[in-house]
Amino acid sequence: MRGFEPGKRRRAEHGDRLDLQCDVCIVGAGAGGSAVAAALAERGLDVVVLEEGQHWNPSDFQSKTRFALKNLYQGRGLRSCRGNAITLMPGGRGVGGSTLINSAICFRCPDPVLKSWREEHGCETLEPARMNGYFDRVWSTLGVSVNPVAVQRNNNLIFKEGVEALGLEGGAFMARSAPGCVGCGLCQYGCPSGGKYSADRTFMAEALATGRVGVYSDCRMRGVETDGDRVTAVTGFLIDPDTHAENGEVRVTADHFVISGGPVGSPLFLLANGLAENTHCGQHLVVHPTVAALARFPQEIRPWSGVTQGYYVDCWEKGFLLQTFTVTPDNYYIALQTGMGEETMRIMKDLAHLASAGALVHDEDSAGRVQHTPVGPDLSYFLGDGDKKRLIDGMRLTAEVFFAAGATRVHPGRVGLTAIERPEDIEASLPYDMPASHLFLYASHPMGTCRMGADPETSVVDPRGRVWGWSNLSVADASIFPTSLGVNPQVTTMALGLMVGHTIAG
Ligand SMILES: Cc1cc2nc3c(=O)[nH]c(=O)nc-3n(C[C@H](O)[C@H](O)[C@H](O)COP(=O)(O)OP(=O)(O)OC[C@H]3O[C@@H](n4cnc5c(N)ncnc54)[C@H](O)[C@@H]3O)c2cc1C
Repeated sequence: MRGFEPGKRRRAEHGDRLDLQCDVCIVGAGAGGSAVAAALAERGLDVVVLEEGQHWNPSDFQSKTRFALKNLYQGRGLRSCRGNAITLMPGGRGVGGSTLINSAICFRCPDPVLKSWREEHGCETLEPARMNGYFDRVWSTLGVSVNPVAVQRNNNLIFKEGVEALGLEGGAFMARSAPGCVGCGLCQYGCPSGGKYSADRTFMAEALATGRVGVYSDCRMRGVETDGDRVTAVTGFLIDPDTHAENGEVRVTADHFVISGGPVGSPLFLLANGLAENTHCGQHLVVHPTVAALARFPQEIRPWSGVTQGYYVDCWEKGFLLQTFTVTPDNYYIALQTGMGEETMRIMKDLAHLASAGALVHDEDSAGRVQHTPVGPDLSYFLGDGDKKRLIDGMRLTAEVFFAAGATRVHPGRVGLTAIERPEDIEASLPYDMPASHLFLYASHPMGTCRMGADPETSVVDPRGRVWGWSNLSVADASIFPTSLGVNPQVTTMALGLMVGHTIAG
């Protein structure tokens, strides 16, 4: 043991100052950071992981919006982008990162995407045999499986009925990293049953079990010390877990540093410290823009109950997926505020009769970025016309599925919430020329802001995840994706984390 204590370390044990030394220091304990920690520790390296949020156990979680937003969400759940549409961009905080609040959906990186990363972006490290080994490992570590029909419940089953009635191909229950799911519908507030296998309970638990890893919570990292082309230390603040106020200091020296703060946190850290230029760092933000739709059925659906996101339709070739989703009743209410007034109250009164699903788009021509400014982060996302068209195609198909399942009314995620009363009105209600500003976008998959590539002129990290220009600094999280994926990203993030970790360990 050298300069740090392995195990879970909490603010109450830190004192006023942490001064640590290790082989590798990781900033951020989400999907990427946890996988890197596991890969490094199994190769015999001593690792310190620094995380701004807290350590959690399933029994700590409360099914209360106030608790979840304050403790588990970046920006208390209000993180959003300016641009040509309203875009909420939630992200997690805590050991486990966004996997603490994600819906556990699992997809491997589609082959054409991996091929384009190799052939168009020069990422020769991502050769199929190696990556398939990593995907297999993520699959088994996360206990990925399809949940039984008994826990899917009405919101997923009614969508399946519609897909079958329409004769659509590509419908299926989704594989999830929640082998013990009980269908309580609370994934996004932290899984209270422990049925979800989030990164803290899988890769980070593996890393901790080696006895070589210390995971220090409540550490907000801000600065670096450098010497030539090497980073020699990272510095930051200890924070009060309740108020989030900075009330102590932390400094860690190491041979190698990995930034895994996620697609917002990592570019901000690099830019704020002058470790990368903003010509590419923070640029190329892609998010899988998503628009929801609600549908009214004569029978009770009780959409808050069951697997949070259980069923989907694969339209990847057309540039989108349809996926069911549920949130808690107060979150439906918050989303409905785009309509306001009498219409919102009418829908809320009917909540038990509603079902919800949405379209997730593989973004291609939108323009997003994360920038560091003296007054704080500036996040922007401008939906492109091609992506808007794919979203509208997805919204139209979602409405068709709902009507085929017997819906009497569909409320698409348009600001103003104009209801569609009949299938014949779908196209007119969702015209291709509607302004992007009429869409209420949800973007829980930021990616691409420190993109990987073989050319330092067009990328931020090399194909091993090393930041160009630095000999001992890497990034491992969803920010290093060279492009958007078109499928939910946690599995690919973890697989890349394993690759970066093994490459550092040699
Ligand atoms: C609501 C929601 C639902 C989702 N559902 C799914 C799903 O069903 N399936 C799927 O595949 N994906 C899903 N995702 C996306 C998936 O969880 C993320 O893509 C993945 O977790 C990204 O991993 P990451 O390592 O890049 O970042 P994160 O997992 O977000 O981890 C980053 C961590 O770094 C910490 N950090 C940042 N900056 C600092 C700093 N300066 N100092 C210290 N710590 C710092 C943060 O607090 C955070 O804990 C969802 C995401 C959200 C928000």
